[in-house]
Amino acid sequence: MSFRADVITLFPELFPGPLGASILGRALAEGRWQLAATQLRDFATDRHRTVDDTPSGGGPGMVLKPDILARAIDAIAPEGDLRPKLLMSPRGRPLDQQRVRELAAGPGALIVCGRFEGVDQRVIEARGLEEVSIGDYVLAGGEVAAMVLLEAVVRLIPGVLGAAESSHEESFEGDLLEYPQYTRPALFEGLAIPEVLVSGDHGKIARWRQQEAEALTARRRPDLLARSRKKAIGKAK
Ligand code: SAM
Repeated sequence: MSFRADVITLFPELFPGPLGASILGRALAEGRWQLAATQLRDFATDRHRTVDDTPSGGGPGMVLKPDILARAIDAIAPEGDLRPKLLMSPRGRPLDQQRVRELAAGPGALIVCGRFEGVDQRVIEARGLEEVSIGDYVLAGGEVAAMVLLEAVVRLIPGVLGAAESSHEESFEGDLLEYPQYTRPALFEGLAIPEVLVSGDHGKIARWRQQEAEALTARRRPDLLARSRKKAIGKAK
């Protein structure tokens, strides 16, 4: 069974969007992963297809109703569906490459996209939704966030990236950011490709890349190096 993503949204027409292009789109067409976007309003019970109501306790905006969302979740992922149920949310745990890898190794995901002020807390608890954030900023809705998550996950599904686009040395695959990349022409606006990269000496190239990756990570993301050292100390104990 291939990885299956179900998205619950008020804007199903936004999908697959960028997920339908390039390598991921090809993999989708080949059935290496599956995607379905479901309209939350289809689970409303009144003739206006209402899915939201005013916040209890007052305040601006609207909140997605728990009963309607629960009906949608139960219809799409009934008991026994082992896929994680995710809710895109700025309050969630920040998405990282480790969680991305875990999701890619699993059977898929049900993803709820919030809108307005978000989702009634009770449905989050009653359906065990895992809140996932894509960063410390607020989007207008969860759809783009769901696409970000899926794009990161789907490219790691076995067979989606060809050997040529392999992800093994990329930023966040280890504890380092990736080394700088170059390609032809040899000279661009007076700037040359570092000599070592055209030397043909693969040992030297590997050492240079490692040093550059370490230096870049130390400059830009010292937190990653600190984390890596902590891990190493933990392993040595
Ligand atoms: N009132 C909410 C709060 O302050 O936490 C923000 C609601 S936001 C306007 C509407 C929806 O966009 C959220 O329910 C969520 O699905 C999505 N969203 C916004 N920012 C996000 C982020 N950084 N990561 C993931 N989803 C986000």
